[in-house]
Amino acid sequence: MSAPPLTETQILDALRRIQDPDLHRDIVSLDFIKDLKVEDGSVAFTIELTTPACPVKAQMEAQAKEFVGALPGVKEVDVTMSARVTRGRAATDKQSISGVRNIIAVASGKGGVGKSTVAVNLAMALAESGARVGLMDSDIYGPSIPLMMNVSGSPTAGAGNRMVPMENYGVKLMSIGFMTPGDDSPVIWRGPMVMQAVTQFLYNVEWGELDYLIVDMPPGTGDAVLTLVQKVPLSGAVIVTTPQDIALIDAKKGLMMFTKVETPILGIVENMSSFVCPHCGERTEIFSSGGGRKMSEKYEVPLLGEIPLDPEIREWGDQGKPIVIAKPESPVAEAFRTFASAVAARVSVVNIGTGTADRPASGSYIPLKVG
Ligand code: ADP
Repeated sequence: MSAPPLTETQILDALRRIQDPDLHRDIVSLDFIKDLKVEDGSVAFTIELTTPACPVKAQMEAQAKEFVGALPGVKEVDVTMSARVTRGRAATDKQSISGVRNIIAVASGKGGVGKSTVAVNLAMALAESGARVGLMDSDIYGPSIPLMMNVSGSPTAGAGNRMVPMENYGVKLMSIGFMTPGDDSPVIWRGPMVMQAVTQFLYNVEWGELDYLIVDMPPGTGDAVLTLVQKVPLSGAVIVTTPQDIALIDAKKGLMMFTKVETPILGIVENMSSFVCPHCGERTEIFSSGGGRKMSEKYEVPLLGEIPLDPEIREWGDQGKPIVIAKPESPVAEAFRTFASAVAARVSVVNIGTGTADRPASGSYIPLKVG
């Protein structure tokens, strides 16, 4: 007697064993399984993730093959991995940007902690994973992104007088640096001017379809930054810190600012975490160690990454080639990729978490203890 034919229900039940570690639900109830086809022992389906930068993509694919392959009667399993990035739900009083799914602020309590470096490499790592990415430099005091991304010139006007963003390494770019005279004279930006320029970048640029628009924020927590945070429909914010106590105090101010305006904190990243000697490989904690981790525990915000101090980051950055692509195999590039995956995963959690029945609405469910 031949075995009863395989059913879709059997396949889905096998796939239900796979949990998304960030969303804490199985991939069937999350509706990740698409285009399921069963024919004479051949099974084909797509797993549609919430981000192409999913940290457990390979593991999920392997599990799906294993669990379905173990069902009696299955001869062949064809799994396609794809992603459809979730859309941030901006607060209703903010104007969203059509086509842009998520705006992510990269912020710091003070300058010089590597905020722009982190923003650039985050954008690069997300783009490398297959996401559609834009990078907006709103750091008025030192617009360093044109240099770091090796882009110069001025954006041209496109249809309807909207600016066409510059582009390099597959990332769309706008920078306040494109709007300065080009000589090295310092530009004194006042709050309202910053706001006007940044608003133009956001709403008057042809970003097209983007999964993530990374915004390199001006440093600090002053009025201009606060106004920006209040105006921009952010999916969430990443706070960059270094391990020194003084930087951590400033980072805490950043956390408080975003919390006050109910912007979800995606987490913090500790830059210049430790120094790995290029000669002997020994790790040295130049500043103090574990400050970012302690801070993340104290305020109950995720630690998204720890990026080592490595002179090559600056050297390649100055040459306009972000380390993620300049030295893709290096531990530093790997640290940036792990961090980018953590950011993408947090964005999915925040987006799926907002406004659903089992979780309270935006921001407030992020268990942030700031005091
Ligand atoms: P911010 O945007 O916070 O002012 P930048 O990203 O411009 O900081 O970084 C300041 C300087 O430090 C730059 O020269 C940059 O190349 C360098 N830098 C940033 N992060 C690192 C790191 N992890 N290791 C070594 N140099 C770094």
